[in-house]
Formats: sequence, C-alpha cells, structure tokens
Amino acid sequence: LNSKLPNVGTTVFTTMSRMATDHNSVNLGQGFPDFEMSEDLVELVSKAMKDGLNQYAPMAGLPILCERIAEKASDLYGVEINASTDVTVTPGGTYAIYTALTTVLEPGDEAIVFEPAYDSYIPNIEINGAVPVLIPLEFPGYSIPWDVVRSKITEKTKMIIINSPHNPTGSVIREDDIEQLRQIVKGTNIFILSDEVYEHLIFDGLQHQSILRFPDLLERAFVCFSFGKTFHSTGWKIGYCISTAPLMKEFRKVHQFNCFSVHTPSQVGLAGYLQNKDSYNNLGAFVQKKRDYFNQLMAATIFKPLPSFGSYFQCYSYAGLSELGDKDLAIMLTKQYGVTPIPVSAFYHEGIDNKVIRFCFCKKEQTLEKAVEKLAKFR
Ligand code: GLN
Repeated sequence: LNSKLPNVGTTVFTTMSRMATDHNSVNLGQGFPDFEMSEDLVELVSKAMKDGLNQYAPMAGLPILCERIAEKASDLYGVEINASTDVTVTPGGTYAIYTALTTVLEPGDEAIVFEPAYDSYIPNIEINGAVPVLIPLEFPGYSIPWDVVRSKITEKTKMIIINSPHNPTGSVIREDDIEQLRQIVKGTNIFILSDEVYEHLIFDGLQHQSILRFPDLLERAFVCFSFGKTFHSTGWKIGYCISTAPLMKEFRKVHQFNCFSVHTPSQVGLAGYLQNKDSYNNLGAFVQKKRDYFNQLMAATIFKPLPSFGSYFQCYSYAGLSELGDKDLAIMLTKQYGVTPIPVSAFYHEGIDNKVIRFCFCKKEQTLEKAVEKLAKFR
C-alpha cells in the first residue's frame, strides 16, 4: 500500500495516554476532564433513548438542536444564523475541521497554519493534496506575526486556519488580530477555518473573538465547535460547524457520505440542555478557577509558567532546568515522577523544541494536587 500520509505516526495524545496508563502516571496530557459531567444532561440523553428516539437523525443535525445552536450564537455573538442552512452537527470538532478542509482544499492549494498547531490540521491538509504553509507563532507569547503572514500569501493561498483559545498554548486572538486578518483576506478568495472548540473557556475577563461576530469574515469561514469540550463529555464526540448557506451546502456533500448523521439521543439531550443559558454561561469562570489553582500549586515546582488565557491547557517552560528535549522530558516525568504532560514540539511539524510542556488542568482538585506533589520532586 502506498501510504497517503507517509510522515504520520500515531497521535501524541494516544501515545502519551497509553504511556500514562502503562506507568500508572497522573495523566495531564490528553485534554479531557476527569470529573463527572452534568447529571441533568446524562438524564436527558437516557430519557431520549428510553423514549425510543434511536433511529437516524437528519443528515445535517436534529432541527431542534440546530435551532438551539443558532440561539446560542445569537445570544453570545449577536449573529443571525439560519438553523436549517448554516449549521451542521458533526461527530466531534476534529471531524468538523477535517470536513471543512476537505470541502475547500484542492491539490496544490496552500493553507496557512500557525504553529504550534493542533495535530490534525496538517495531515488533513496533506490528505487533500494541498500544501501546509507553516508560520511559527511568536515565542513566548504565541501571538500571530501578521507581517510574516502577509509575506506568505500567494495566488495559491486558499485557506488560513486560526484557533482561539489556542491549543496547546492558551493564547487568544484579540480585536487587533481580527483587523489584521480582515485586511489580509479582503478582496481575495481566501477561506478561513476557525477552530473555536474552547470558545467558552476564556479567562481574565477577555472576550472570545468568534468569527461569528464578523459578517464579512463569516461569509468566507467555517467555524468549528465542540460539545465535548463545552460540556465535559469529550467521549461523546459531538460538535458542529457554522458557515453560510452556500459554503455549508458543499460541506454537507462531504459530510453525508462520511458519517451521514450523528447519534440521535445525544442531540435530543443537548437540545434540551441548551435551553438553559446557564449551561454555558459560567464555564469560563469554572475552568479559570482550575487554571488558577493549578498555577498556585505549581509555584512549589521549578517549572516556569507561560501565560494561558483560555482552553484546558497551561504551558510551562523548563528552559535552563534540563538538557533533555521536551519529548524525552515528558517520558522522564511519566516514568520517573508519575506525571504525564504533552511535549509542545509535537505540535510543530519541524519539531521546534522551545523546552515547553503542556499540562491539562481541567481536572479534579485532588488530581492536580497529586500531580503537583510529584512534579515538585523534580529539582
Ligand atoms: N484536543 C485534545 C488535546 O489536545 C485531544 C484530542 C484527541 O486526542 N484527538 O489534548
């Protein structure tokens, strides 16, 4: 078999989670909560199953859930979304991203990716025969170097991928970034993929700069979201994409022959749960408390925090503390100290190693305490 992805191995999340299990290590690697999700939501889904709502949902998503999604978008971002033409429910955020890239990219097209980047983007681009154009975010603040972006635009540029709050660094896009992006795409045929799976998980009073707020950008964008990240249910694998009707029509052509539609009872449950705005309004504060608690505990270690303004993640630098590369450090922390992080070089195609590791802090307090007690032994 001629591999379509010759340079791809098994994802860092799978590798590190397996290593954490094998060594009975506290897993602060792969981004998932270790506490229970809302019982009310579980009840709603169970009820839907017991009520016999167990057959195919419509291809684009359950209409009532698409309505709720449109209401949430209007409530948060002041945008009018047509629930029947502009929203598609997907089996997870990563699937929505893959589908959007596959909808847009043709062989030879260029797609701009900022690194460190969530690890699915580049393989998704390559499998479509397109070419990733890699731009490192400025270190250590992880902001977008817009002058570099301007210099990398060619007539082949088909897509710019943005991600805020950002995985793995927790940096967030500001109003000024939106203005820069606007100037770059204006009058071009460049599309935007906006990965906003951590939309609610934003801290310190900052406002999420969703592409949904900006009609001139939304008209060329696919905006991807995740209920797993939002409602602490990453194992459910449900997300959605919002775009404009003409773009969504093409997105659905790809989607319908891939998974066709998404788990019906979960969609019924989510629609019921979203009726109450409290289901999403306090999530930022809830997760910020975890970030703050983790950082407070981590002060007992010799690792140095980099700023995180959103997401599940907090990066720490160990520059000057160890000669090991970040992958080796992550393995050493797993095997010898019993805590598993993710090496941030795994999010760079060329393996750029700034001696930074990512921790997922969206965990029970006692998990964070246990992890930091172990990390404090690293001297
Ligand atoms: N988004 C999660 C993370 O960054 C992992 C998702 C996955 O394992 N595919 O940790």
